[in-house]
Amino acid sequence: MLEATPRDCVTERKALTISPAKTCQPVGAVYAALGVHGVMPHSHGSQGCIAFHRMFLTRHFKEPAMASTSAFTEGTSVFGGGSNLKTAVRNIFDLYDPEVIAIHTTCLSETIGDDLNAMVSALDIPEGKRVIYCSTPSYQGSHVTGFSSMSAGFIRHMAEKTGVPSGKLMINPGFVNPGDMRELKKIVEAFGIEYTMLPDTTGVLDAPMTGTFEIYPKGGTPIDEVVALGDAAYSLALGQWASEACANELRRKHGVEYATLPLPMGVAATDEFILALSKFSKQVVPYSIEEERGQLIDCMIDSHQYLDAKRVAIYGDPDTVIGVTAFCLECGMKPAMVVTGTPGKEFTSIINGMLAEAGIDPQDCWVKEAGDLFEMHQRMIQEPVDLMIGPSTGKQIARAEDVPLVRVGFPIIDRYVHPYMPIVGYKGAMRMLELIATALMERMERDCEDQDFEFVM
Ligand code: SF4
Repeated sequence: MLEATPRDCVTERKALTISPAKTCQPVGAVYAALGVHGVMPHSHGSQGCIAFHRMFLTRHFKEPAMASTSAFTEGTSVFGGGSNLKTAVRNIFDLYDPEVIAIHTTCLSETIGDDLNAMVSALDIPEGKRVIYCSTPSYQGSHVTGFSSMSAGFIRHMAEKTGVPSGKLMINPGFVNPGDMRELKKIVEAFGIEYTMLPDTTGVLDAPMTGTFEIYPKGGTPIDEVVALGDAAYSLALGQWASEACANELRRKHGVEYATLPLPMGVAATDEFILALSKFSKQVVPYSIEEERGQLIDCMIDSHQYLDAKRVAIYGDPDTVIGVTAFCLECGMKPAMVVTGTPGKEFTSIINGMLAEAGIDPQDCWVKEAGDLFEMHQRMIQEPVDLMIGPSTGKQIARAEDVPLVRVGFPIIDRYVHPYMPIVGYKGAMRMLELIATALMERMERDCEDQDFEFVM
């Protein structure tokens, strides 16, 4: 599959990306929009764009991802999409009756300079319904920044302040699976905290099979809760890239202070999240959470011999990659390559800081933001690794180099059940540990001599 990858050198490239470790902004915007109940995500662009975005989400979650489009044609591309948007919004409210239409832009509508602010202001919106929007051209950012922009868009267009404090905590969960959101909610609820999670795709993209199709499944952040966020007491943004913009927008608009934390993956980052919840709620950490932490540490000690000093290549979305890298370091592994396709200069300094703290010379690890898998492959050929951790997009490299791959992150389009299973919190770390240890032990068993093939390990 990858015969074109040069095996004798690493080619430096500046102007060309090959196999980017990301996808386009609107994919994330649609995912965020699906996390609010009764919302129809709407793509202001050509039909091909939304077909791609829906296909990507459907393949990862194995659930239908509903969305509509302005269906640009050649004429629209020349004269602008205002008229198509007007017709689309009227039809969507008539046919599908959403509470909110959440519009995101595409490369095409941004390039021709469509002014969504003016277009939406001119729309005839039915009483009690809303139309919100955000800008997501795909020649910038990634699906993660698209998710972030749409999350912030909900606050910008919908959050209101009545002046009566609700005492609630806003949790921005980051670009994670519904299974992760359920785990985060379980932890927050253990403290008895009143909260609103935005967005919240539980019950939407992990809805149970009922035999009946629903355009708007039961889950998602209730709209009245999004509106009431202006009265919230505080926000916790989990993951700088995916979540901070939303919390920042709530502070800008309504003065609600926030803290940005890393995604709670592994021991230290989960500790940080738990302590933030303890501080906010003024409650001691519940025993059920302490117990999970102790179980995780126990499992890490038990399996340490199989993970210690293993060289690992980690790739994917920045918040997730930072979390996976932190956990690998906690398990005694050696990150040899750490790459995200999403731009953001801070990524490199955060990873280098983590490596230095773990006693690893940052020179011994290739770290790159806005990077691609082609270069990671070239570097793996020169300096082989024991394991890859990242989404399905690395599977051809894993096969070409005969390296085990642990699928973590987005998109995972060639496996099942993962959207339901958390990788955040102590329980999520236990699951990651199981996946990593199993991959390494299976490889060891495949390659060992008969006399070393043990029944008990
Ligand atoms: S044209 Fe742009 S927005 Fe549309 S699918 Fe391609 S990258 Fe995404």
